[in-house]
Amino acid sequence: MKKFDMPRKKIGFFPTPITELKQLSKKLGGPRIFIKRDDLTGLAFGGNKTRKLEFLIGDALSKGCDTIITGGAEQSNHCRQTAAACALSGLECHLVLGGSEPELPKGNFLLDKLFAANIHWTGTFRKGEKIPQITEELIRLGKKPYIIPYGGSNEIGVVGFVEAVNELKTQLKEMNEKISHVVFASSSGGTHAGLVLGKYIYNQNYILIGVEIDKEEFGNLVYSDHLLNLTNSSAKFLGIDHTFTKNDLILKNEYLGEGYGVVGELEKNAIKLLAETEGILVDPVYTGRTFGALVDMIKRGEFKNTDAVLFWHTGGSPSIFSYAEKILL
Ligand SMILES: *Cc1c(COP(=O)(O)O)cnc(C)c1O
Repeated sequence: MKKFDMPRKKIGFFPTPITELKQLSKKLGGPRIFIKRDDLTGLAFGGNKTRKLEFLIGDALSKGCDTIITGGAEQSNHCRQTAAACALSGLECHLVLGGSEPELPKGNFLLDKLFAANIHWTGTFRKGEKIPQITEELIRLGKKPYIIPYGGSNEIGVVGFVEAVNELKTQLKEMNEKISHVVFASSSGGTHAGLVLGKYIYNQNYILIGVEIDKEEFGNLVYSDHLLNLTNSSAKFLGIDHTFTKNDLILKNEYLGEGYGVVGELEKNAIKLLAETEGILVDPVYTGRTFGALVDMIKRGEFKNTDAVLFWHTGGSPSIFSYAEKILL
């Protein structure tokens, strides 16, 4: 197996903390609950994309690129972290965002502007579909662009989460704790694929539970097929001699609600519950939905009292400020 000696740019602050949510466990009953704070990666309000960007930006710099191009929704956490990573790396940043320019920039989009990203609006396309076209324009202008796909989820970005498993392993050892399950949001797949590969490489035996966030197809694939492809192409990239199947990927698809970015009762209650009991913020799109799913699973008795569940907080808090009405109503 290949060692992870590939180019890496230090962008975040690792390891991110792990704490136990004792007040929440007491309130809900059931298993012990731990939280892994990737909302505190230290890059521009944090988030899971920082892990991927260390390897993606490292790769871009090693190839002599001067411009980064990526895409997402208007409130993309990935785009905000990419814009900040470009600023600190001296790279020009182009963001291909779904929707149209809002009258007043808020949340993540406000931050994209502060990091001086160049914005390209693409209407109904919110998964970077127009990246190839804009890349060609940049090349014509004499730039040397580097493409980071939607969510930073390709074989290189995945390495960030393979390494995260090693980080977790070290922390659990230091804490003298064992966990039975890890619960996290699964949306463009890099987090999920990296955790699956890391678990395999580092011989961990907890159960990984991905909570699906976006019910729309991924290109022309259903999400579970995209995730399986990404897992196996990343395994190959890392020289792992093993083929993964759908049995290796647990995906909860019963918490999709009204779709991507639509805040329902589940998300609203989850955001308030964690804020009130532990003083921790989750976001309306990803971590609120995922934490709501975890609370529901606990209430349904899907865990044993002797289990210890780790909720991987993947970030997203800046978008709270662009969803104020929906969260508080
Ligand atoms: C992107 C994102 C996720 C999903 O991670 P993927 O690797 O894209 O599956 C989860 N939470 C937050 C806050 C994110 O920004």
